[in-house]
Amino acid sequence: MSLKKIGATVAATALALSLSACGGGAGSTNLSALKIGIKFDQPGMGLNEGGKYTGFDVDVATYIAGKLGTPADKIQWVQAATPQRETLIENGSVDLVVATYSINDTRKQRVSFAGPYFIAGQDLLIRADDTSITGPESLKGKKLCSVANSTSAQNVEKKVPGVNLQNFNTYSECMTALTSSTKAVDALTTDDTILAGYASQAAYAGKVKVVGKPFSTENYGVGLKKGNVDLCNKVTAAINEMIKDGSWEKAVQANLGPANYKPGPGNPPTPAACS
Ligand code: GLU
Repeated sequence: MSLKKIGATVAATALALSLSACGGGAGSTNLSALKIGIKFDQPGMGLNEGGKYTGFDVDVATYIAGKLGTPADKIQWVQAATPQRETLIENGSVDLVVATYSINDTRKQRVSFAGPYFIAGQDLLIRADDTSITGPESLKGKKLCSVANSTSAQNVEKKVPGVNLQNFNTYSECMTALTSSTKAVDALTTDDTILAGYASQAAYAGKVKVVGKPFSTENYGVGLKKGNVDLCNKVTAAINEMIKDGSWEKAVQANLGPANYKPGPGNPPTPAACS
């Protein structure tokens, strides 16, 4: 090989190395394909029915991915149950989490958020024939179900000290407990979006009802690697675009309309600046 050729090879190798370093460097994300964490068991928000993914969060995630340059068929959907969300982001199992994920300061110590893209409120779901539970204040002596590490569990423990709370890994496990013949629990507490989705399922028709008195503010954010401001800014721009071009409203109608759920005050929200 001539000296000139060797020189060219070295230069090309150096360029390739610097390009790959750029692509794989800290804080950067390959945007031609994305791994996105969603819920798999929340009808209307994030649902996996044999590899068919539906819900408001799925639509928000698909829209954002499109704006980032990832076509829908290059999205890999990953189950992100409530207790695992921060870990999945930290260890790189997912690039984004769009999973009824409330922004709060504790979580911000481990992950960054773009958003909010939606505002929900915490409520209660009870059996249809139950007239004794009318709000958090009537939960004394009742068996309540929620999910570990959720803001729902944290809020209700603060609001109703000493409440008899059982925490599962998913809300669908609470649904099974609530509607079982043994009446293993008396109520499920989490966001009204999630509760409306369960209540509208044919399988639960006439069996459950939402109390309908929200008692918290849940700002849904898109979770991503802590400190990746570049990605956060891109996701924020996509959320703004989705609200502006009418896609947000369409996604609300398509996914939450069937459950007769109407977004509460503050919707659509204005996403905060990334930091
Ligand atoms: N939005 C609440 C949270 O992020 C409750 C719903 C959920 O667990 O996904 O903790």
